[in-house]
Amino acid sequence: MALRIREDLADLPVYVPGKTFPGAVKLASNEVTEGPLPSVREAIGAAAAAVNRYPDNGMVELTAALAKKLGVTESEVQVGCGSVILCQNLITVTSGPGDEVVFGWRSFETYPLATRVAGATPVQVPLTSDLTYDLPAMAAAITDRTRLIFVCNPNNPTGTVVEADALRQFLLTVPSDIIVALDEAYFEYLRLGPSQAYDALELRREFRNLVVLRTFSKAYGLAGLRVGYALADPEVIVALGKAHVPFSVNSIAQQAALASLAAEDELLARTDAVVAERTRVSGRLRDLGYRVPDSQANFVWLNLGDDTIEFAQACVEAGVVVRPFAGDGVRVTVTHPAEDDIFLRFAEQWAARTK
Ligand code: PMP
Repeated sequence: MALRIREDLADLPVYVPGKTFPGAVKLASNEVTEGPLPSVREAIGAAAAAVNRYPDNGMVELTAALAKKLGVTESEVQVGCGSVILCQNLITVTSGPGDEVVFGWRSFETYPLATRVAGATPVQVPLTSDLTYDLPAMAAAITDRTRLIFVCNPNNPTGTVVEADALRQFLLTVPSDIIVALDEAYFEYLRLGPSQAYDALELRREFRNLVVLRTFSKAYGLAGLRVGYALADPEVIVALGKAHVPFSVNSIAQQAALASLAAEDELLARTDAVVAERTRVSGRLRDLGYRVPDSQANFVWLNLGDDTIEFAQACVEAGVVVRPFAGDGVRVTVTHPAEDDIFLRFAEQWAARTK
């Protein structure tokens, strides 16, 4: 007899992260290649000595440090076990069966999965032809069942950003009681042009329904420790606090995040090198004939359509693990020249072969 597990989840795929193997160059998960700084390692070691105790469930010190850095009150900050959990908790506290969660597609895979797990309905609005979020189409997709909207900026996996005016116009259009989550997981890699530049914290002050999501997983290099945060109106933070799984941000993660904030000048300086590489890698790929949109993240998107899986498999055979999205394209993390060149050599050979 079948066990009583929700039947509506039967066809839901599980999240499959990029797989790697010993010796491979892993460019599949948008991580940084460098390990933690000595000061961060030291904080990790010190925290490890006290893991017989539960972590601070209120994440008081880290919340205070983030509030201070960002010029907001502590009642506007919620730390979570990765920003993915904050995405999930936002869905949980806003949406149930029959409710709709709107986001662009293709985008971060957690949005549809977590929406379905909550029993709510994902509303996937296709990206524009230049692979950016189509905000007017998303506004048109709002119904009286819409409870939450995700705007992934830059978008994972395409790396594209929306224009600043379009974003503000969108926020003006969305009914003010519907929460809009601006997912800025790649915030530290943004180098926005004049028409794109926006200040999420300023927008947050203007729009009470705006939630900004950021993470320590990318530029801060703590993907393995799972720390992210939400900036939101205190009413949203109270709700997120209710959904917070007790003690889910462990004590090592909290201390490593604090040490990373203390060393952030050094960590953020590294993003400049990645940004320079992103320009170089995108340019070279375009010269080779690939369709690559402008990226504002630490990865680039190759629009490969039906060739996606074949390309990704051949790439793995060449020792480089990238992230394929069947039928659409491949996302490749940009790190530093030594690794990126290994990928580019493969991309060159592939382009030569298919000419
Ligand atoms: N949002 C986006 C757009 C992402 O790409 C990711 C990581 N892949 C996350 C959120 C979650 O990041 P984390 O849980 O590591 O903070």
